[in-house]
Amino acid sequence: PYVIAAPCIDVMDKSCVEECPVDCIYEGDRKLYINPKECIDCGACEPVCPVEAISQDRRVDPEHAGFVEDNRRFFAEV
Ligand code: SF4
Repeated sequence: PYVIAAPCIDVMDKSCVEECPVDCIYEGDRKLYINPKECIDCGACEPVCPVEAISQDRRVDPEHAGFVEDNRRFFAEV
């Protein structure tokens, strides 16, 4: 699945929400989250993000690796 990392924090532009064909991008307090169980890996969200916060979890920048886990935690709680 795709994952949203740090650049989204306090930005939450939401262009990605409109692009996602399966509506799997959810709003948290300070950033958006992609539900890893619902994401179909289409990639439509990545190019529309104005702050380039989105990438596939396997290609996530090492400095943002924690967001893959943070994302799992978010959906375990909701
Ligand atoms: Fe939605 Fe596709 Fe982005 Fe997954 S990769 S969050 S399905 S737009």
